[in-house]
Amino acid sequence: VKVLLTGGSGFIAAHIVEILLQNNFDTVVTVRSEEKGKRIIDAHPDIPKGKLSYVIVKDVAEDGAFDEAVKSDPPFDYVLHTASPFHFNVGDPVKDFLDPAIKGTTGILKAIKAYAPSVKRVVVTSSFAAIINSKQHPKLYNETVWNPILWEEALDHANVYRGSKTFAEKAAWDFVEKEKPNFDISTINPPLVLGPIVHYLNSLDSLNTSNQRVRDLIQGKFKESLPPTGTFIWVDVRDVALAHVQAIKVQGAGGQRFFVVADYFSNKKIADTVRETHPQLESKLPPADVADDFPGKIFQIDNSNSKQILGIEYRPFKETISDTVDSLLEVGA
Ligand code: NDP
Repeated sequence: VKVLLTGGSGFIAAHIVEILLQNNFDTVVTVRSEEKGKRIIDAHPDIPKGKLSYVIVKDVAEDGAFDEAVKSDPPFDYVLHTASPFHFNVGDPVKDFLDPAIKGTTGILKAIKAYAPSVKRVVVTSSFAAIINSKQHPKLYNETVWNPILWEEALDHANVYRGSKTFAEKAAWDFVEKEKPNFDISTINPPLVLGPIVHYLNSLDSLNTSNQRVRDLIQGKFKESLPPTGTFIWVDVRDVALAHVQAIKVQGAGGQRFFVVADYFSNKKIADTVRETHPQLESKLPPADVADDFPGKIFQIDNSNSKQILGIEYRPFKETISDTVDSLLEVGA
């Protein structure tokens, strides 16, 4: 069984690679440079030659970006599409975010339809960003809820990431409905993803966005006060990665969205947990009585779809934070 994974150099994708290999899938990742591809191969010296390889896709927003990458011999059975910008250095919202997210998604689906008829399912990494309605939270968040953001609102730098994920996921479902390709799709919709970084890819300066708050915390940047938590729900990267792989293994995952979420949290809870798991970092942390911005469970969350269909058992917060901090300390935080 052969799988194409886009954005192989990413935080979540690096964990997906490990699970694909554990499942003995032939794995091809797309990366933006030879250097990143080589780093991934070099980090897996025990994997037999050919079991893990890479192809270069420099910019997912370019027309036909995936036309060559999806052609393979033997052909691909599944595609996991994780590549999408996730950072806050917004220059041009359309060029830097909306185009790569939306055109990247429609581009790979078009390429598969045209050149890879053997593909049975495509799993698209969407986000809670495509679910949240921040103006008016519903009582319950589950897979039926969609972010009602409009295109004009998405052009605002503060909203562009959420817009990019919402429109990209919509475009994927629309594609399947209109084009009726040979494959079906599943989407994985995580909120803030925390968890250990993969060392061969990351340095403290080029850390993926969602772990940056943990790095900043243990480097003493929040000694006086904590920044706003944002959205008060989280999930472990290893559970998110497993959900992607389960979504290709489980027949009934086709046509489904999966809200993969562990629980509620706040930045104060991260600080309290680090104090418990890594007492030697006490001097870097804010005082134990620093303000907590957690507003209480102002909305309910339902992860039963991911538990029942994908069989995910969510890791507890303490394990995630402890492992994240250990991995950051290993790279010198
Ligand atoms: P990373 O930034 O670590 O990974 C993003 C990946 O996408 C990288 O491999 C990056 O390549 C690639 N990429 C970005 N833009 C382009 C482009 N224009 N052309 C080609 N490749 C591109 O972030 P995560 O691993 O956290 O994110 C992976 C996915 O998960 C994204 O779709 C993100 O939206 C989604 N997600 C993440 C959450 C989180 O909290 N981390 C929460 C919910 C969803 P390079 O490294 O070379 O730039």
